[in-house]
Amino acid sequence: MTEFTPLLNSNITAMAPDKLLGFQEKVRDIPDLVRLTLGEPGFDVDERIKKAAINAVEQNRSHYSESQGERVLREAAVTYFNNTYHLNYTDERNVIVTSGVSEAINVVFNTLLNAGDGILIPEPAYGPYFSSIKLARGERITIDTATNNFKLTPQMIIEAVKNATVPVRAILMNYPTNPTGVTYSREELEALITVFKQENLWVISDEIYSVLTYNQEHVSLAELLPEQTIYINGLSKSHAMTGYRIGFILAQADVIQQMQKVHGALVFAVPTVIQDAALVALRDVQDTPLAMRDIYQHRRDFIVAQLEALDFDVVNPEGAFYVFAKLPADLGEDGDAFALKLANEGKVAVIPGSGFSDSAKAYIRISYAASDDVLKEGMARLKKYVDKLRER
Ligand code: PLP
Repeated sequence: MTEFTPLLNSNITAMAPDKLLGFQEKVRDIPDLVRLTLGEPGFDVDERIKKAAINAVEQNRSHYSESQGERVLREAAVTYFNNTYHLNYTDERNVIVTSGVSEAINVVFNTLLNAGDGILIPEPAYGPYFSSIKLARGERITIDTATNNFKLTPQMIIEAVKNATVPVRAILMNYPTNPTGVTYSREELEALITVFKQENLWVISDEIYSVLTYNQEHVSLAELLPEQTIYINGLSKSHAMTGYRIGFILAQADVIQQMQKVHGALVFAVPTVIQDAALVALRDVQDTPLAMRDIYQHRRDFIVAQLEALDFDVVNPEGAFYVFAKLPADLGEDGDAFALKLANEGKVAVIPGSGFSDSAKAYIRISYAASDDVLKEGMARLKKYVDKLRER
């Protein structure tokens, strides 16, 4: 018998493992661990949404949906996003319903990028983007925003394009930003747009945390630059529906038509039962996200105060549910080692900054999506651990 020689896709084998998931693996089996790692809302799904899912099952909504998404859900998405963020999409031809924002990102990258094309990523950024760029055979071009309190400036984009060694096709915006909580005002976005136009860039805007913007209006790039923007949003964070896996891509109809080829090939369609639940979320459940936002804001204030009392350096997050904190100088600069020891000895899990940017090694990301009790316990343990380190 001839022996089978496994040949794998070299693009995939060359891909670095996802650091975010990798760290969670490392701490998976630690007993009695308070986990402040995942962006997993500590809320149950609204009863009205649950009922819609149950009804859909009972009504035998068990058949394939239209690949692009149920028409009624796409219409509801246009209405919801147009009304909430002053967008101007025409109709259901502007929408694809995806299996979470995760799929949306992969659909968009695979549609816009030719092999070797560059995409600008303001970093620190959500780690899985890096794998998705690889998957699409694109080139990640890092823009390090650490020098400006994690805020992208027009000049940074101009520099990055000038120094690029590959054709630069797109920029990936994500605000409020995971992991820093930074967001942008209308004026700041308008300044960025001038450069997006000048450099002829596709703007991919992942606005999954838009509802969780504190004390200011969320302004969408799809309002300001609709012809060049691919708008992405979803229900994981706004409606605490992470496990339902619902996302949306909104863009000009001709671009959506091209993206639909990729979506059709990847998943064919999102489960019909889940789409029925999503329809109720968009149409009828607009109060719950705002109530959750107020609770998150409280948690943010609590956690920032606790971290500052321990001398961590924190840029106050204006949105999302993460704090990106720099280790105090006396605790060193190695966020990976700190996070691992904190998990093993202090029994609190946070994510090392290196999962979001190569230059953020001295940082940790703490998710305050967890419940109040879990957060209080986590911060008490962090304090105890840091106090003990300082006694040594
Ligand atoms: N984009 C960002 C910036 C995120 O932080 C996350 C999840 O944490 C996702 C996308 C994934 O979202 P979804 O659950 O819709 O796939």
